[in-house]
Amino acid sequence: MTTLLNETHDPSRKSWVTQANEPGCDFPIQNLPFGVFRHGDSETSRVGVAIGDQVLDLSRADDLGLFGGDASQAAAACRDQSLNRLMALGPEHWSALRRRLSALLAEGALDGNVALVSSALLPMADVTMQMPAEIGDYTDFYCSIHHANNVGSMFRPDNPLMPNYKHLPVGYHGRSSSIVASGTPVRRPSGQTKADAAEGPSFGPSKLLDYELEVGFFVGPGNQTGEAIPIGSAEDHLFGFCLVNDWSARDIQKWEYQPLGPFLGKSFLTAISPWIVTTEALAPFRTPAFERDADDPQPLAHLDSASNRTRGGVDLHVEVWLTTQAMRDAGAEPFRLSRGNFKELYWTAGQMVTHHASNGCNLRPGDLMASGTVSGPDKGSRGCLLELTWRGSEPITLPSGETRAFLADGDEVILRGYCENESATRIGFGSCSGIVLPARVSDDNGSD
Ligand code: CA
Repeated sequence: MTTLLNETHDPSRKSWVTQANEPGCDFPIQNLPFGVFRHGDSETSRVGVAIGDQVLDLSRADDLGLFGGDASQAAAACRDQSLNRLMALGPEHWSALRRRLSALLAEGALDGNVALVSSALLPMADVTMQMPAEIGDYTDFYCSIHHANNVGSMFRPDNPLMPNYKHLPVGYHGRSSSIVASGTPVRRPSGQTKADAAEGPSFGPSKLLDYELEVGFFVGPGNQTGEAIPIGSAEDHLFGFCLVNDWSARDIQKWEYQPLGPFLGKSFLTAISPWIVTTEALAPFRTPAFERDADDPQPLAHLDSASNRTRGGVDLHVEVWLTTQAMRDAGAEPFRLSRGNFKELYWTAGQMVTHHASNGCNLRPGDLMASGTVSGPDKGSRGCLLELTWRGSEPITLPSGETRAFLADGDEVILRGYCENESATRIGFGSCSGIVLPARVSDDNGSD
């Protein structure tokens, strides 16, 4: 099933939630992303949809009898503390719910319902966003060829890309227990590191803390163990997309990563933006898959389809912003470190899904996959400090006069993402932010 444009994408459609119609609003009626929120200390987590500066409480809306017919099953699945049940239902149910939500929130439609629907709205400023799903498994890929070339050339100048890179989406199994929602601070991790000049390793706080700007996507319906997911139906398994900050400790990573890959240099924390932008909402922003150089190999048949070639990509701008403690004290605005685009990845989300299941590995609703650091060809589009400062050798000077090779305690990293083009309404991903806390004091000497 290929997601087609329908009335929910119509740029002329406005919402009676007037803030949603403001230029630059991340959550116009064409977006309708799903998340999980809490309102007040005593309430349990609930599923909601963002519209302008409001959140529609789906359980409350269902109590009011606002969902009938073909949207009823999806609405019932939202009466839960996570999105897993909704994710498991599949594109037809997601689409039916989206059409109903759009109709309920559209200006001029269902006038009699405005007061009723209003009673299920909460100001976004009054809710706290939670993790949107119970993530059983998390896989992180490495799909920006620009990132792979940059990082590879630092360590292997003559041979930056491994022989497999252009034949399959390289990835590793990450840690799901330490995935957190935006706003969660990151404690500077401690670990074992070894300086080049040192005789042996030592244990202590990481000195080379970094972020990685990534795009994540949640699995909808899964597959049975032993069964593959053909590329032609890979998109049916993609519920939606978010921003991911794969916090990384480069010094821990450098000492530990061979021969089995990333481990404690990555698993201390991974943050995601809390609103999941559905695959259907992204329909107006689909692009062709990465255009390979003429002498690059074409993907093997099981990773290739006409649909993937023509619209497997997503034109999604992604940005990294930074504030330091000194900048916040001075009331300064965040500073943009980089700006890239998800469409520049060598592999599409569909190819990642198909490759992941190609050995019969079962994917499950709520599994998270992340793209790997999104870097483009230009220096201004490098998605982590390792690349931006070239391993710290070219520190960045901030407007405050401070410099950064890697992150300092008190720094706040903010990821943002949005889609826009001439024939569609701009939609945004909100943000994924986190502040760096100092290492635990006891980690300085490794004992307490
Ligand atoms: Ca990563």
